[in-house]
Amino acid sequence: MVDPKRKLAENVRNVTDRIHRACAAAGRKETAVQLIAVTKYLGLDLLRILPDVGLGDLAESRAQELSRRAAAVNEFLSRRPRDPAQGGMPRPRWHMVGHLQRNKVKIVLPWVDVIHSVDSLRLAEEIDAVAAKLNRSIDILMQVNAGGEAQKHGVAVGAATHLAEHVATLPNIRLCGLMTMAPLTDDQSVVRDCFVRCHELFEEIRHEVGVGDQFKHLSMGMTADFETAIAQGATMVRIGRALYEGLTLPADAPAGTEVS
Ligand SMILES: *Cc1c(COP(=O)(O)O)cnc(C)c1O
Repeated sequence: MVDPKRKLAENVRNVTDRIHRACAAAGRKETAVQLIAVTKYLGLDLLRILPDVGLGDLAESRAQELSRRAAAVNEFLSRRPRDPAQGGMPRPRWHMVGHLQRNKVKIVLPWVDVIHSVDSLRLAEEIDAVAAKLNRSIDILMQVNAGGEAQKHGVAVGAATHLAEHVATLPNIRLCGLMTMAPLTDDQSVVRDCFVRCHELFEEIRHEVGVGDQFKHLSMGMTADFETAIAQGATMVRIGRALYEGLTLPADAPAGTEVS
């Protein structure tokens, strides 16, 4: 039997090493890229270990799961001493990375720190309204369909600048950058083109729309393609499977991506 905590810690070290090597190869600082652990494959037992192996940024792709998991982790951590010297932990930051329906916004908003998947003005307006009721502001990224696939979520490349202009005016939203998912293919040139397009769009919006200094994030790259994404300027990589290699996961764990 592998000890899950040791195995997780080893996987985190391996993934972090790969991130650092990709940064070095691209001439970027190691601190330029943030690792976000996608938790959708895990049961609560493994989920609770994540903060202990240094994973402070956690993500989910479904609204209900995010709130359920964030509540469970907070409850678990709240039973520990506050003092870091005694094993106390700051509460993890939660990222919503999957498609978000407007009627689910109020479920996630009390728990989420960053929403990566904003792809319409109506969704942004709903987030803004719920945030106002909760008396908070919320960091969001705009999801762009940079691969141009028909079945993918995300705003079309040609409509993204216009959407950014509108989203940037909403008072309780901080537009912090863009997110994209590359097509599922082994052809790394298709993947690279998608990330290049997203980065170009990011620069265009940064220069042409009054988005402010907080517009600095590019969330791109998953287990299959995060090194390619880092080479193209990713500042956040959303990684699931590579972190859980060799661990026993619940049989009902979602196998694919884009679950909603
Ligand atoms: C599942 C998922 C990921 C992580 O994918 P892995 O291949 O497990 O690394 C990243 N982003 C989104 C939106 C996902 O749904």
